[in-house]
Amino acid sequence: MSRPKKLSLYIDGKAAKAISGKSFTNFNPATGAKLSEVEQAGRRDVEKTVVAARAGFREWSAMTGKERGRILRKAASLLRERRMELAEIEVRDTGKPIAEAPEADIDSGADAFEFFGGLAADIKGGHHDLGETAFAYTRREPLGICAGIGAWNYPLQIACWKTAPALAAGNSMIFKPSELTPTNAVRLAEILTEAGLPKGVFNVLQGGAETGHYIASHPEIDKISFTGSVPTGRQVLADAASSVKHVTMELGGKSPLIVFDDSQIHNAVSAAMNANFYTQGEICSNGTRVYVHEDIHDAFIAILKSRTEAMVVGDPMDPDTHVGSLISADHFEKVMEYVRLGIEEGAYLVSGGEKVTVKGCEKGNFISPAIFTACQDDMRICREEIFGPVMSVMSFRDEEEVINRANDTEFGLAAGVFTQNLSRAHRVVAKLRAGTCWINNYNLTPVGVPFGGYKQSGIGRENAAVALDHFTQLKSVYVELGDVDCSY
Ligand code: NAD
Repeated sequence: MSRPKKLSLYIDGKAAKAISGKSFTNFNPATGAKLSEVEQAGRRDVEKTVVAARAGFREWSAMTGKERGRILRKAASLLRERRMELAEIEVRDTGKPIAEAPEADIDSGADAFEFFGGLAADIKGGHHDLGETAFAYTRREPLGICAGIGAWNYPLQIACWKTAPALAAGNSMIFKPSELTPTNAVRLAEILTEAGLPKGVFNVLQGGAETGHYIASHPEIDKISFTGSVPTGRQVLADAASSVKHVTMELGGKSPLIVFDDSQIHNAVSAAMNANFYTQGEICSNGTRVYVHEDIHDAFIAILKSRTEAMVVGDPMDPDTHVGSLISADHFEKVMEYVRLGIEEGAYLVSGGEKVTVKGCEKGNFISPAIFTACQDDMRICREEIFGPVMSVMSFRDEEEVINRANDTEFGLAAGVFTQNLSRAHRVVAKLRAGTCWINNYNLTPVGVPFGGYKQSGIGRENAAVALDHFTQLKSVYVELGDVDCSY
């Protein structure tokens, strides 16, 4: 057996050993194999990185948007060139199927660098006419040092979605990936250096909650962009409050998918499957509460069941696999506990929800996609984020009722509506309290469209030009052309 590799921090344009002297092990969740021994950043490593990021910021923010954009677009093409190599790293770190990772992870990350690289030369303020003798203008200026803290489900994509707009706007970035998926953030750092990024502008710190806490509470970091669960998000917000930082919060969800009786049923089933089983259900915006009109409920379930049972749970590296391994044994236990709870609460397990042993991946955390029917709104499986392949189906009778039930949650990340009735589609979407809504599809996140949550699912938006607003601050400049009025 080969010795696991070392994975470093990345500070000031190069790999760096942790001053803390600590490290942790990164495992492949599908096989249990040790992937690497990872340096863990302590408080002094954070201090050192802030110094590097401050110097990086001075150089980077003095460059023109055109110059910055060229480097970011070069990084996008390097990401595309190394697409398969990076996708395989992502599969080994996360357990997700290789059938998904090249497009959903690597292309999506490259899209962000291409998109924000293109916008970098067009970051601008406004002009305010104040009559003949004065005017004002606004400048969009970078914030300074931004920090990103990521979740483990889309490690490279999350790093890119945060870093591309932050860097386009002239900030420097300190990124901490999840301790469960540490590898591709370092690969991204190497790619950015190769693309010509000055040293200190993009830095990677490895570690878990403790390292995250040092970052979120550091007084010289100007912004935290966090992706993770609501409970951790609350702690990060509290830490950020100590120095009144700017924040973007991309948190969890329990999103509704509403299927009206005039829906194209095969499309609605496809969307429900994408919305629950893609990436083994480990997606924040998943439509895990599926409301199906009572007139088509039984037909919907019959099609859903037969198509779900044809899905292949298997080795994530096999291109024919649809459902890979959950991220860890702990997470597997949590998801299985919800399956047991659903049965106890009186929901009917139509399909799946069982441990699957995969040949060659006997130590993996595989579960067959689970479908519950006869669910009630107040069941815990319908209220709490499970973050695994567990779908809860409920039936409904009328529009107003289903809107109220869909909105009855502390979350508000996403929602979907299936109907052929255009007026109803837009009427219902307008009443749903969720940041991203899909009509007749689910879980598409093109880079040009804002993404983010209502209620406890988040603050701020990622993607689209609006993300630049969240990585800049506005300076208003009043300009006098006439005399100064003074009564003294
Ligand atoms: P998590 O909250 O456990 O961890 C997220 C990150 O926070 C990790 O990097 C972790 O090391 C770090 N962290 C933990 N404690 C911290 C602390 N006290 N201070 C600072 N950092 C700390 O989430 P997870 O299990 O990695 O990811 C799953 C969650 O992420 C789900 O709730 C999912 O919905 C959410 N998510 C949201 C989006 C979105 O865009 N809205 C995208 C992906 C995942």
